Parts: sequence; C-alpha cells; structure tokens
Amino acid sequence: MEFKTIIEPFRIKTVEPIRQTTREQREVALREAGYNLFQLQAEDVLIDLLTDSGTGAMSSEQWAGMMRGDESYAGATSFYAFEAAVQRITGLKHVIPTHQGRAAERILFGSILRDGDIVPNNTHFDTTRANVEYRNAKALDIPIPEGRQPHLFHPFKGNIDLLQLEDVLSQNPGRVPLVMITITNNSGGGQPVSMANIRAAYEICRQFGVPLFLDACRFAENAWFIKIREKGYANKSPLAIAQEMFSYVDGCTMSAKKDGLANIGGFLALNDDELAQRCKNALILTEGFPTYGGLAGYDLEAIAVGLQEVVREDYLQYRIRSVAYLGDILIKADIPIVQPPGGHAIYIDAKAMLPHIPQSEYPAWALSLALFLEGGIRSVEIGSVMFGQQPDGSEEPAAMELVRLAFPRRVYTQSHVDYLAEVLLHVNTIKNRIQGMRITDSPPVLRHFTARLEPAHGSLFM
Ligand SMILES: *Cc1c(COP(=O)(O)O)cnc(C)c1O
Repeated sequence: MEFKTIIEPFRIKTVEPIRQTTREQREVALREAGYNLFQLQAEDVLIDLLTDSGTGAMSSEQWAGMMRGDESYAGATSFYAFEAAVQRITGLKHVIPTHQGRAAERILFGSILRDGDIVPNNTHFDTTRANVEYRNAKALDIPIPEGRQPHLFHPFKGNIDLLQLEDVLSQNPGRVPLVMITITNNSGGGQPVSMANIRAAYEICRQFGVPLFLDACRFAENAWFIKIREKGYANKSPLAIAQEMFSYVDGCTMSAKKDGLANIGGFLALNDDELAQRCKNALILTEGFPTYGGLAGYDLEAIAVGLQEVVREDYLQYRIRSVAYLGDILIKADIPIVQPPGGHAIYIDAKAMLPHIPQSEYPAWALSLALFLEGGIRSVEIGSVMFGQQPDGSEEPAAMELVRLAFPRRVYTQSHVDYLAEVLLHVNTIKNRIQGMRITDSPPVLRHFTARLEPAHGSLFM
C-alpha cells in the first residue's frame, strides 16, 4: 500500500515559540516600521517568509557536527569533511570556503573579469549582478522567452536561451571569460533548468573554449525537478542527478544558506589550477586562510552534514511538495501566481490581483502589507519599490509586481501552510479594499531595505 500523504520527514526535538499578535498590535508595528516589512522586529512576525536564505532548521546531526567542529587555524579536520562533502556532489578539484555566496562571487569575478567583459547567465541574482557590474563588466540575462511570462506553464522555465548564448559567444570573442547558469533560477521565480539545457550549454561553451559555472545555491531542488519532470531521470537518485549536472561545468559558486541547509556559509569550487590559486590569494586577503575562508570550524561541519541531508529523496519530496501544496490552493482560488510554483517560493502576481492599484502606488508592496496586517505573515515585494529606482534617480515601473513567499527549509509544518492559505484566501476576498502606497523617505540605492512609506489614500484598507 502506498499512502498519498507526504509527511514532514522529521520529528521536532527543539521548539521555538512564535508569537500571536492582535491586528491592532500589527497596525502599530507597521506604522513604526514606516510600512516597510524589512524594518519590523522579527518577534512581531507570526510566519516569516521573507527569505529562505539562512533561515532553515538544522538537524540533530548538524548540531552534533558543530560540537565536533575543529577550530584549528590551518588544516582543520572540519575543512576536510567539508571539502569531501562538496567534492562528492560536484567532483570539482579545488574547494574554497567563503562566508556567503556573494563572497565566492566577488572572489571569482575579481580574479577573472576585466573592464568591458560580458557574463551571460539565465538570470543573474542581484548580488551576482552587482559583483559583475562592480568589475565594470556586463551582466547579461538570457533566459528562454517562456521564463519571462508569469502565467505560462513550462517544465523548465529557468533554462538559458541557447541560441542567444551562441550568438553572444560568437560575436564577442575574448570578451566572455565565463558563462553562468543559476539553478534554480531564483530571480526568475525559482524555476528549474533541465539537464538537457545544462548539457547543451556545456557543449556550446566547450566549442568556444569558455568555462561554464553554476550558481548552485539550489542545486538539490533543481535535481529534484529534473527527476520528476525530465525524461530518463525518474529512477535516478537526486545525488546522481546533481553529480551529472556538475559533470558539465568547470566550477560553481554556492550559498550554503540555501541548499547547504546551514545558517551561514558558502563556497567557490573549480577545476582550473591557476585560477584557483589566484582565488585563494584573494581569499586570504579578505576572507581568511583557504581551509576556513571566513567560517568557523563548526560552520564547515554543519555544511558538510547539510550537503548530505539535502539530497535525500524524502526531504526533497517534502520540500518541493510543501511549496506546490500552497500553490495548488491559490490556483484553485484563482489567485494569480507565477506558474508552475518554483522550488523555494510562491510568487503572487499583484498586478493581476490588484488591477485597481496603479504601479506608481506599488500594488505588490501594498499586498505584502495587507498579508502582515491581516495574518502576521511576512513576505517580500519584488516589484517597483525594489526595482523602480533608476541609477539616475528617476522612477520607472518594474516589469512585474510580485509578492514572494519564500519557504525556510524544515521550519514550518503543513498546518502553518494551511494557515497561510487561509489568510491568503481571506485577503483575496477583501482585495478590492486594499489601497496604494507612496514613498515618503528613500535612500539613494537598494531603497526597499530602508525606505519609509505611507498609505497614499489615508489608510491601507478603504
Ligand atoms: C542567495 C543567493 C546568492 C548569494 O548568496 P549569499 O549567501 O546570500 O551571499 C547568489 N545567487 C543566488 C541564486 C542566490 O539565491
């Protein structure tokens, strides 16, 4: 007998209370936070879906590993455990620990990019883009066209556009020092990339003699999508699929705060001996000695264990299903979301849900505030507050107005998700009363973190 209920594949050993607040308390908290969810105190949030980065729960084995952490400055046993865990999955020769994914990006790009270079990627994550641009190079996004249409179904919406990739490489000889593919495509809605796409990109890159790197933050979630959606992989283990993905690349950057199942950490891994040496030299300057790279020995242990747990089938099935479970409820209620649901988050299309709020009044921001006010849920706007501000100070509406509900790993249970769904369905019934917002105070860059706002028409709800 096969039972259909997919359960959380763990039981709970340590609990952290979450705090219920009243609507009045949340109203005060919102006002004090300048109507900016980043400015809330976390204890005022009931269910926190701001990000899946570094917010996961560690296992008893990870905590046991932390006790084993070897804090020797050089050559700690924890480094060798970490290196072995990374190599088991990636097969890459040099493993360089860093304190986060963005440090791996900075070290890699600082060692390989020159002014005017071009880095193609399915879609650059914001720190990746910032680190490419910091080197005066161009961060070129070339997802397949389907990847830009929120309501269109495609099993591998994260794929890189292979024709455009070939064009860029043939038209810019010597100007493309590496190609990157982000798995899953975070900025494109957490959508997966197929094995066929990675393999084809590898063949194109090889033809032009250009190395291919993965931005591997969610490699295990991507492997799971390949297993359930791509022909020929149904009977392969997530580990074997991940190993095949990495067999096509020359290196990767990784944030262990995602599929490392750790609260901090990252790494850069690559095959090129000479480039690895340059990266290690840069690492020593700002991160630390190459066997710890800005991490404690216990962090290295936590990641080493996390990388083994993250490829477990029962974990990945539960992980991807819990996100899709919420997606299914919202789709049934005609709440517009990016389809199909991604691996780590649900993205609500606020432009479609709140057509009465003009983009100049930030519909996705207003919706995220309504979810907090009604149900104590913290999400994040990915819309015109985040992307509307242009480098010259002018304002332009973003391409999409999305509210992202990112799921921390192994933190919330199905009843939390049921509660979330109930709040979302309730807000959907009063959506016509939600009103727009205006910015009253804004920093010059990355304004969404610290901007202050107020209701544009007296109150959030009519
Ligand atoms: C989180 C993330 C990064 C950056 O990693 P940090 O650990 O936050 O520095 C890079 N790329 C992608 C796709 C990410 O999701």
